[in-house]
Amino acid sequence: MPEMQALTSRQILDRLVSFPTVSRASNLGLIDWLEDYLTGHGIRCFRHWNEDRQKAALIAHAGPWEAGAVVLSGHSDVVPVEGQTWTSDPWTVTERDGRLYGRGTCDMKGFVALAVWALVEAQARGVARPLQLALSYDEEVGCTGAPPMIRTMAELVPKGSAAIIGEPSRMAVITGHKGGTGYHVHVKGFEVHSSLLPEGVSAIMEGARLIDWLNAVNAEIQARPPSPLAAAFRPPFTTLHVGMIQGGTAHNITAADCRFAVEMRVVPDEALADWEARFVATVREIEAAMQKLRPEAAIHLERFFDVPGLIPEPQGEAEALARRLTGDNATGVVSYGTEAGQFQQAGYSAVVCGPGDIAQAHQPDEYIEISEFQAGQRFMERLLEALA
Ligand SMILES: [Zn+2]
Repeated sequence: MPEMQALTSRQILDRLVSFPTVSRASNLGLIDWLEDYLTGHGIRCFRHWNEDRQKAALIAHAGPWEAGAVVLSGHSDVVPVEGQTWTSDPWTVTERDGRLYGRGTCDMKGFVALAVWALVEAQARGVARPLQLALSYDEEVGCTGAPPMIRTMAELVPKGSAAIIGEPSRMAVITGHKGGTGYHVHVKGFEVHSSLLPEGVSAIMEGARLIDWLNAVNAEIQARPPSPLAAAFRPPFTTLHVGMIQGGTAHNITAADCRFAVEMRVVPDEALADWEARFVATVREIEAAMQKLRPEAAIHLERFFDVPGLIPEPQGEAEALARRLTGDNATGVVSYGTEAGQFQQAGYSAVVCGPGDIAQAHQPDEYIEISEFQAGQRFMERLLEALA
């Protein structure tokens, strides 16, 4: 096979953005192209397929076939563009005003393009320490794609040691983030005419008890002084939130159904499992009281995401490496979830560090500043020197 021509990171970005890999759609166009490109440069690639084989994660390994790789981690999926007003085609990288516009340029195909460039360079230069790419799917729908991908990595490639998750941080080294969990709640009541209120069960009014419990817990949390670790976060505590609600059919019927979505964002020194247990116990208490009146009443829970927090690691390898490459000595934590906590749980040292500003993620006219993309390029060049 003739040697494939190496692309610049900017050319790779153009290709990656051209695939409309919104989370609900297949990402195989992008994965096929990328696998061809990387294998064409002598890099070993592996796929982790999802259940219906409409999506795949790509795992690539450059350099010597041995443990201890630096892992560059990104996600292939992007959020939709429907309902957003875009000045230019979201699936074409468009340069204007010192910025590269396009869906995913910031979150996070910019970093992925730089990582792909670095892998090809690492293979061509013959680095001493291996470099891996871990490109997931379904990050934007609750980080559900990374855990099975990480398990597959353990079977197929030598274990890496330091993972850099390239979510946009303006190249700051982020050593901690909150964990999170989300539940769809479906309260099933019992319909009667509202004049007979005590004989029915209003799903709305029972749901309100649960929502008000969340309010009370928020107040209780915020009245306490934050732990030293939590103090670095904004806000410096765990938050419980309801973002959507629907229910009822008429003002004079006790509602048969009420549905809402609860999310909990948990500081990393509190256990997600403890919060989940407290929440579920409260649900069961309210449900038991409803069922005393009407046995058919119930509260159904469906957990739709569950992302562990990233706990800052004292003397962590990933942090030390990222600091060396960026010159950043500040401690940074963020309140949004990433795949970093999942890598950490699987035994990797992990940090978040990537080009672009999280404020641009998910926006219409999403962009990455060219200066940020260039900062990412310098990061990869220093990384290659460190691996040499
Ligand atoms: Zn992202």
